[in-house]
Amino acid sequence: MFTKVLIANRGEIALRILRACKELGIQTVAVHSVVDADAMHVRLADESVCIGPNPASESYLNIPSILAACEITGADAVHPGYGFLSENARFARILGEHKITFIGPSARHIEIMGDKIEAKKTAIELGIPCVPGSEGEVPTLEEARRIGREIGYPVLVKAASGGGGRGMKLASDDADMENAWSTARSEAKAAFGDDAVYIEKYLTKPRHIEIQVMGDGRGHAVHLGDRDCSLQRRHQKIWEEATAPSLSAKQRDEIGMIVANAMKKLEYSGAGTIEFLYEDGEFYFIEMNTRLQVEHPVTERITNVDIVYEQIRVAAGEELRLKQEEITFWGHAIEIRINAEDPRTFTPSPGKITYYPPAGGVGVRVDSAVYQGYAVPPYYDSLIGKLIAHGRDRKECLQRLRRAVDEFIVDGIKTTLPLFQDLLEEPDILSGDYDIHWLEKYLAEHHA
Ligand code: ADP
Repeated sequence: MFTKVLIANRGEIALRILRACKELGIQTVAVHSVVDADAMHVRLADESVCIGPNPASESYLNIPSILAACEITGADAVHPGYGFLSENARFARILGEHKITFIGPSARHIEIMGDKIEAKKTAIELGIPCVPGSEGEVPTLEEARRIGREIGYPVLVKAASGGGGRGMKLASDDADMENAWSTARSEAKAAFGDDAVYIEKYLTKPRHIEIQVMGDGRGHAVHLGDRDCSLQRRHQKIWEEATAPSLSAKQRDEIGMIVANAMKKLEYSGAGTIEFLYEDGEFYFIEMNTRLQVEHPVTERITNVDIVYEQIRVAAGEELRLKQEEITFWGHAIEIRINAEDPRTFTPSPGKITYYPPAGGVGVRVDSAVYQGYAVPPYYDSLIGKLIAHGRDRKECLQRLRRAVDEFIVDGIKTTLPLFQDLLEEPDILSGDYDIHWLEKYLAEHHA
C-alpha cells in the first residue's frame, strides 16, 4: 500500500479522497493555491504545499509545481480527483517516469477515451452499442451529406476532440449540412486546435444513463450499476440518481454485463464511467470518463461500496475485492449539486458564508468542504457541496431529499438550493419522467 498520497485537487473531492486515505492508514499531502490556504482539505491533511497563484492554470493544472510537491514531501502516489489533471494522459505518464503512481487508469486508456473517434471505434470493437453514424472522421461536405442521408436526418456534427458540448452542430437536411459541417469544424479548430469532425444520428428525447465500472488492470472488472443524469443545464449535470428510474432490473443487468465484459477485455484499471444516451429501450455509447465522477456517491449509497477506497487499493496493486454476484442495489439515491450561483440567472455568487448548518439526519449525506466563515473564491468551479438522499425506494428518497433541502441553510451567498425546492414540486420530476432536454425547457418557461 502507498505510504503517502498527494491529492491534486481542491474542494469537496479533495476532502473525499483524504477521508479514504485516512481510513486506509495512508498519510496525505494537500496542495493548494494561495487563496485556498484556509481550505478544509489543507487543514485536515498531514502536510500541505502551496503550488502557485490562484488561477488554476498556475496551480491545480501546474504539472511542474505538483511534481515538485511530490518530491518535497516524498509522496508515492497522486490522486487527481475529477476535473483538473484527472484525464491528462501526459500527467499520468510523467508521474510514471518519476516512479509515482497515478491513481487512475493507464495513460494509454486515458488517451483512447479522450479522442472521441478512437473511443467510439474501441467501444464498437468491445461490443458496446453506439449511436449510428460515420466510421471515423468525415473529411468532406459531400461525404457528410451522404452519411446524413444514409443514417437519416437530423444528425449531429461533432468535434473529434470535443468537450463541454463545443464543436457540436445539428443538421436537419442536406441544405443545413453545409453550415453545420463548416461551423462545427471552425469551432473545433478554434477550441481544440483540431478540425476533425464526425457524424452521429441525433436522438430527439434521450435520457443520459451511465454505468459505473471498476477494474484491476489484469482482466477482472465489475459494474456497480447505473445512474440517470438527464437533468442538465448546458450539458452540466445538476441532479443524478441511482438506480435509473426508467430501467428494469433485467435491462440494468444486461447493459451492466456488456460494459463489465468490455472492461475485462480492455484490462481497464480503476474507476470509470461509460456514458450512454438511452431512447426507446436502446443504449447508445457517447463517451467514457476515465476517472472518478462527481456523482459517484449515489452509487456508493445503493451498493455500500466505497469507490475511492477501492480505487486507491487497486492502484496500489491489490486485488479487486468486488465480485459481481456480491454487488447488490439497495433502495434509491439522489444527489443534487449545490452551486454558489444565483438560482435564477446562474451567475456565480462567490463570497463569505456567514451561517452554515448543513442538512443531516437519516438517509442524508453531505459531501462539502465549506464551513461557516469560509469565503467561496471566484476562481474555480462554483460547486460548494453535494446533498445525497437515500431511501428504501424513490418515493422515500424524494421525501428525505425535500426535507433535507428545506433544512439546509447557506447564508451570505446565493446558492442553487431554491431551484431544487422548485424542482421537487414538479410532477415530471416526482414521477421520474424527464429526458436530457427537460431542464432547459423548464428553465426557459420558468426563469425567462
Ligand atoms: P462533450 O464531450 O462535448 O460533452 P458528448 O458527446 O458527451 O460531448 O455530448 C454532450 C451532450 O450532447 C450529451 O450529454 C447529450 O446531451 C448531447 N448529445 C451528444 N450526442 C448526441 C446525439 N447523438 N443525439 C442527441 N444528443 C446528443
